[in-house]
Amino acid sequence: GKPVCECNSCFQGPDCSQFITDCPADADSGDPLFLEPYWMRHAASSALLVAGWHRMSYTFSDHTSISQVLDQHIRTLHAAAKNAITDGKYIVFGAGSTQLLNAAVFALSSRNSSSRTRVVASTPYYPLYQKQTDYFETLHFEFGGDVSSLKNNSDALDIIEFVTSPNNPDGQLKKAVLQGPTVKAVYDHAYYWPPFTAIPSPADEDVMIFTISKLTGHAGSRFGWAVIKDKDVYEGMSAYISLAEMGLSRDTQLRALKLLKALLEDDGKEIFYFGYRRMMDRWKRLNQVISLSKHFSLQEISPQYCNYLDRVREPSPAYAWLKCEREEDTNCTKVLNAANIIGRKGRVFNVGTRHVRLSLLKRQGDFELLLYRLNELVKKEYDAH
Ligand code: PMP
Repeated sequence: GKPVCECNSCFQGPDCSQFITDCPADADSGDPLFLEPYWMRHAASSALLVAGWHRMSYTFSDHTSISQVLDQHIRTLHAAAKNAITDGKYIVFGAGSTQLLNAAVFALSSRNSSSRTRVVASTPYYPLYQKQTDYFETLHFEFGGDVSSLKNNSDALDIIEFVTSPNNPDGQLKKAVLQGPTVKAVYDHAYYWPPFTAIPSPADEDVMIFTISKLTGHAGSRFGWAVIKDKDVYEGMSAYISLAEMGLSRDTQLRALKLLKALLEDDGKEIFYFGYRRMMDRWKRLNQVISLSKHFSLQEISPQYCNYLDRVREPSPAYAWLKCEREEDTNCTKVLNAANIIGRKGRVFNVGTRHVRLSLLKRQGDFELLLYRLNELVKKEYDAH
């Protein structure tokens, strides 16, 4: 039969797209369930059944070649998406990109320097960089906050700069701010795929990190990969994974391979176009509502040439970076909460309380409920006059 969604108590219908109006619009998490309909259409080709006796060995002692096949599929995928150059580079798998971000910090921090390597990012930045670096801090590295703290110091210190492109929360394409012989950039390309951004050219940075979480939507499978130019960095990151995990779960690798095989059947065309159309439609409709408001504004993203579509394309970001414009609305999260909308507060991204991030990645019903509530909020501005 046709696959049917398991809805929570706020939604109904076979695809959970009808909402129950007194429920809050929860736009907090970056859970990419907007891709669920794609996988429902490909339920058979993406299904996985593994017999109990199958592939029991440790990954390092198993001489079958799942890992190599997966490595090959990842290279094919980047060639199809035209979003990264993998020729002559090394690939390391991790338990989501989360683990690889930390593996990169371990591999790139200097062990024979008298001062600690500073890990920095430019504001607004994804909070995990700071949380993780603080939590796993060693003698060799510490979190240094915003890049601006090091601008005058970047020759004297060893630095790792996280560059999120396109950025979470605001969807902007970014380049490393700091340069110099002691600066190493780690490019987090979680969203560098056709559904979320123009791809001006294939990325070719020294350390690039990707994940299936935002590509296929399987955030719970915990599969990410790093594309690495330098052999020493590759060995450093591999050492981290092998000490932390003894190699990445075979089951995760099998699931990732099955999903990539299914989406590559048409070179990713259907999933990329489906995702792009969905995200662009959401962004357009959201802009229509917010453009009527004097109390709220959204980030601006310019149309840009895309190497994948081979034309200039409209923006379609994963998140709305909403700003409260009214002087008295100093706490934007509270303003939204009062209207039964849940977002992620700007403070988390190292900026003030005037910003809130709203996820546009969830199911269609979640988005419809969010838009409905925002519409109600903007209508009130007019009623007040
Ligand atoms: N980097 C960025 C910029 C993200 O937004 C996220 C997920 N929200 C991650 C990394 C982590 O993704 P994963 O599920 O691969 O650990």
